[in-house]
Amino acid sequence: MLNWQQIRERHEAVQARIEAAAARAGRSADDVTLVAVTKTWPAQLVIEAYDAGLSHFGENRPEELAAKRPLVEDALGPNVGNTWHLIGTLQSRKTDLAAAHADVFHALDRAKIARRLAADLAEVGRTLPAFVEVNLSGEATKSGLLLTNWEEDATQRAALRTMVHELLATPQLPPLGLMTMAPWDAPADEIRAVFRRCRLLAEWLAGELPGRPRLALSMGMTDDFEIAIEEGATHVRVGRALFGERET
Ligand SMILES: *Cc1c(COP(=O)(O)O)cnc(C)c1O
Repeated sequence: MLNWQQIRERHEAVQARIEAAAARAGRSADDVTLVAVTKTWPAQLVIEAYDAGLSHFGENRPEELAAKRPLVEDALGPNVGNTWHLIGTLQSRKTDLAAAHADVFHALDRAKIARRLAADLAEVGRTLPAFVEVNLSGEATKSGLLLTNWEEDATQRAALRTMVHELLATPQLPPLGLMTMAPWDAPADEIRAVFRRCRLLAEWLAGELPGRPRLALSMGMTDDFEIAIEEGATHVRVGRALFGERET
């Protein structure tokens, strides 16, 4: 496991790559939030990462978030300004853990989950801004609302619009935007096309919503975050580039 000085070096390198990608797209790097993905690493790694200047942390399993966050807060204090992102798919029997421990949810993909989360959030008096996860590449292993052919398929678009309208009517779950995953091991031009289609989908969706909100885009991981930023990502979820290969 890396210590805070090693993480700081890697953080600086990732930040420089974020800035270069943003500059190539004529964007400001300030519009890109780096979510440091700490899944599988112990609480001590998060503490080292905090000491290295990181403040947004991503976990993909709610049990792991629920176990790790209190350990980190016991060590650092609860109000040091960290934001905890739940980035992985949620099963309906675990919505209570997400409601209690996540600050941002990146993988909302079903109305049933939204309803359960909203009820659990109301109970604990919290709100959880959420990205709707969309599946643009059609890979069977990927979760998310099917928007594989959204440009042609009005039914796919309507399902997304309905979901987001429901969220707008649910004060506990304000919609932030869209999240997507690129296909595994695909050539760079295919990955770029997926991210571009996600941005265009968000632009279409914004036009369907009252007040035309600016929607955020959670896309890009270690192997493709620069392409994602060039295509409009506002949140990149990066693990291995910051912390090295996961051991499990
Ligand atoms: C693990 C994970 C990441 C980070 O992956 P790296 O390749 O380590 O950057 C991003 N998003 C999700 C949903 C993940 O599960």
